Amino acid sequence: MNTNIVEEQTADVIVIGGGPAGAATAFWLAMRGVSVIVLEKKQFPRDKTCGDGLTPRAVVELEAMGLQQMLDTQHKYNGLRAVAFGRSYELPWPSLSNYPNYGYVVRRSVLDQAVLERAAAVGATVLYHHEAVEATLASGQIQSLNVRNTATEETLRMTARIYVLAEGSNARIARSLGAHRNVAKPLGLAIRGYFETDRSRENWIESHLDLRDESGATIPGYGWIFPVGDGTANVGFGLLSNSARWRKTNTTNALARFVSQTQGAWHFPENRGVREATGGKLQMGLSVEPRSGPNFLMVGDAVASINPFNGEGISYGYETGRMAANAITQSLGTGDLQPVAGFTTALEKRYAGYYTAGTLFVMAISNPLLMSSGVWLAMRSKATMTPVVAIMANLMSGSTPERIEQIYRLTQRLQERQTG
Ligand SMILES: Cc1cc2nc3c(=O)[nH]c(=O)nc-3n(C[C@H](O)[C@H](O)[C@H](O)COP(=O)(O)OP(=O)(O)OC[C@H]3O[C@@H](n4cnc5c(N)ncnc54)[C@H](O)[C@@H]3O)c2cc1C
Repeated sequence: MNTNIVEEQTADVIVIGGGPAGAATAFWLAMRGVSVIVLEKKQFPRDKTCGDGLTPRAVVELEAMGLQQMLDTQHKYNGLRAVAFGRSYELPWPSLSNYPNYGYVVRRSVLDQAVLERAAAVGATVLYHHEAVEATLASGQIQSLNVRNTATEETLRMTARIYVLAEGSNARIARSLGAHRNVAKPLGLAIRGYFETDRSRENWIESHLDLRDESGATIPGYGWIFPVGDGTANVGFGLLSNSARWRKTNTTNALARFVSQTQGAWHFPENRGVREATGGKLQMGLSVEPRSGPNFLMVGDAVASINPFNGEGISYGYETGRMAANAITQSLGTGDLQPVAGFTTALEKRYAGYYTAGTLFVMAISNPLLMSSGVWLAMRSKATMTPVVAIMANLMSGSTPERIEQIYRLTQRLQERQTG
């Protein structure tokens, strides 16, 4: 036990981490009058390694949190330009009743600060420079947290009725509670940098789906160019690192190769941007377990909520944060901790079907031959590629079973074409 503990602070709920998942949890709790403290170890604005791409799923959550004005100042786009095998299709986001048909590209320094400040504006207490360093447990419950003030080096003891772990993918406290990744499930590695371009105000984000390594072999992943609207584009490269072969890939070299391939079309300046590029891992498909305990639950990357189909995680951070706030409000209202303890089930109910399909898809494309032939088939026509992109972005109409049915039908169609 640390001997320099100087202060004790308490709230109904403590949220560890002020990224998308933590900020959304705090926003929805504060909106319902719950006393909530957010511990964020950094001072915002801070950068976060990301592609900065917001799909309609993220937009709908940001609009629900009252952030339309912030979005109005950012770069709006209409859909995805898919590029592979010498073809290129501009695929608008689908028109659905529950999602808008546009997205934005927003630097995380801007986005995360806006959402966390919004949570503070509706009543959450946000403590920057506060890092949760240790959880004290009794009978599986968190009793208290030791929190280091990274500016003063003081340690505080903090207590709450319920704790939310929104620490991102390097979830130290979650790990100390036994949370671990199921290594049989997919893991991604991604790297990105900013590159100057005169095409930065374009209304399409771009994905390149037939990337090759230096030997010419297909890489299971994709390269992206997301115009930011400020004279730059976020250019990145992500791959599945399940097999030993791809785990050894030098992502900086792969990004450099991708940049040189696209340099002519996007007018990137020579030799700039790759050295400053930073990377991170993508834990996907709810691969972390356990996801909740008697008086705590996990959200966002801490629980691997990234969509295995496309590596998108911001919207799922917002969504799982909102779900967590619902469960917590219910528990605080009734005094029954079951909705918190059973949060795992709520997550599974909402995502397991789609994420299981995503996990199978990802496992299949880890095989370069399947990846290459699948992309080749899908890219034969715009009519085939349009539903593929809608499925991969989880932008389908209907209920979850209907969506799974759609994925199944599409896979069947692709198989039929392959054999027929
Ligand atoms: C290269 C790359 C590109 C990506 N591109 C996209 C994209 O274009 N679109 C998309 O939707 N997703 C993308 N993602 C995924 C996305 O970045 C994550 O899914 C998202 O950031 C998850 O949000 P989060 O709140 O769970 O975690 P984070 O954003 O990681 O936030 C966690 C926060 O917790 C704080 N923290 C951590 N530990 C503690 C502690 N002990 N005490 C206090 N504070 C703590 C951290 O400082 C951080 O601010 C990308 C990821 C990578 C690596």
